[in-house]
Amino acid sequence: SIPLSFFAGIGGASKEGILVKGSNYMETLSKTKYVVFDKTGTLTQGVFEVNGIHHNEMEDSKLIEYAALVESASSHPISKSLQKAYGKEIDRSRVTETQEISGNGITAKVDGIEVAAGNAKLMNRLNIKYIECHHVGTIIHMAINGSYAGHIIISDIIKPHSAEAIRSLKKAGIEKAVMLTGDAKAVAESVAKSLGMDEVYSELLPGDKVSKVEELLNIKTEKAKLAFVGDGINDAPVLSRADIGIAMGAMGSDAAIEAADVVLMDDNPIKIAKAIKISRKCIRIVY
Ligand code: ADP
Ligand code: MG
Repeated sequence: SIPLSFFAGIGGASKEGILVKGSNYMETLSKTKYVVFDKTGTLTQGVFEVNGIHHNEMEDSKLIEYAALVESASSHPISKSLQKAYGKEIDRSRVTETQEISGNGITAKVDGIEVAAGNAKLMNRLNIKYIECHHVGTIIHMAINGSYAGHIIISDIIKPHSAEAIRSLKKAGIEKAVMLTGDAKAVAESVAKSLGMDEVYSELLPGDKVSKVEELLNIKTEKAKLAFVGDGINDAPVLSRADIGIAMGAMGSDAAIEAADVVLMDDNPIKIAKAIKISRKCIRIVY
């Protein structure tokens, strides 16, 4: 039988906007020693601003228009941000044959012309010679009609409570705070450094994130538990693989919420330390 105080604990957590899907997760949460975070939308706001455009022949506004159109069928934070930068109504009838490649970018036909927007991995995959860009930022390379058309530099901002969230986890005795991301190395390292993460792994495809979590699961002791925190569609496999999957509910995708064991009703990362503290208190009462 399940002790009553588990229910009290679950009830107490829910008042804080922390939904725990079962009493067994309370116990796992209380033993968490590693907390692994996805970057975009979890530690950062996932709202990118355009802060540079470089192109070959096209006008800036034309490159942004192609970017917004090719991205129009995607729900990735990058897509939403490029559509916002374009700022005009998008005529979806101009866009056909959309193909989104997770961790790479997106391709489609815009007005019947082949357009691609994504990172260096996507350009390599399409055999497009691109110009290296050394700005610290997320670089969206664009190819139009099979040739390189330029790139758009976008950047995301760190959530106001992320640094405090990492500090409170450390204070609560968490051994390792890790950041995983599909984004570029320079961006990832600058975010990780400013947050005081113990480890950072970048340029990962969704499958690489699962492998990284498996590696971490292997090095820790059996008793210590690993939590993964994410919000995206791509995060569902990692959320399931971790000892405990925590989804950020406010911005999160349905797939992530479904795969998670704990759902945070808002997207404040401070709630993770809070959830761990509530679970420990609840476990102390039970045993
Ligand atoms: P994260 O790990 O930060 O959540 P993703 O795995 O979703 O990031 O994406 C990793 C990288 O793949 C992005 O930083 C971007 O370079 C590229 N990418 C993914 N989706 C898109 C898209 N719709 N448009 C352009 N680039 C994309
Ligand atoms: Mg993500």
